[in-house]
Amino acid sequence: MKLESKGILIGLKPFGERDLIASIFSKDYGVVCGMLKGALINKKNKALIGQIGNFSWNARLDSQLGAFHWEPEKNLVACLMMNMNTLDVVNCVFDLIKALLPERENYDALYDATISLLEKLKTENPFTAYLSWEIELLRDLGYALDLACCSGCGSRSNLKYISSKTGRAVCETCAKPYLSKVYELPLNLNTTIRFLEKVFIEQGGKIPMTRKKLSSF
Ligand SMILES: [Zn+2]
Repeated sequence: MKLESKGILIGLKPFGERDLIASIFSKDYGVVCGMLKGALINKKNKALIGQIGNFSWNARLDSQLGAFHWEPEKNLVACLMMNMNTLDVVNCVFDLIKALLPERENYDALYDATISLLEKLKTENPFTAYLSWEIELLRDLGYALDLACCSGCGSRSNLKYISSKTGRAVCETCAKPYLSKVYELPLNLNTTIRFLEKVFIEQGGKIPMTRKKLSSF
């Protein structure tokens, strides 16, 4: 089996003394994991987290950990490393992708959103830009938040809350009897983390520390 696409290098782990195991978030196949042979001793073309580039991935069997040929073009996050806030956001984004996306399934809308987020982090408020990305992540995982109209009466005005259960907006009037079951709008990182927690409970994992850290802003 052979895959070819472009992608972002989002994870690296040493494997023995010469090799690395890499996770690449790719445009066409979502997350792909495989070996970067000799990457630990290759000083010339160093593999670094945050690089974007083209790759090919080969495995004799579908179930095998394949091997990459990786051609980095540039590093998208190098300029974000100097700022603690943007660095925290980048680490969180890469951790969530690694934790939540199944391997080799296409998430190209989220891929585009991720590239666009990394661009925005250079100029925009990192937490606002991140919030939009996380809403996209939730949508792509099947937990779309719907803020268009009240889930109780259909009204488009006075949407003051979001239901903790359905992720749909609720107007002020409809929310009155259920104030313990709704979160206040507008959305912020302390609200969306509750929905993210649900995803982690269903998938049987734990929210990464890098995401918890962002909620204190
Ligand atoms: Zn209503």
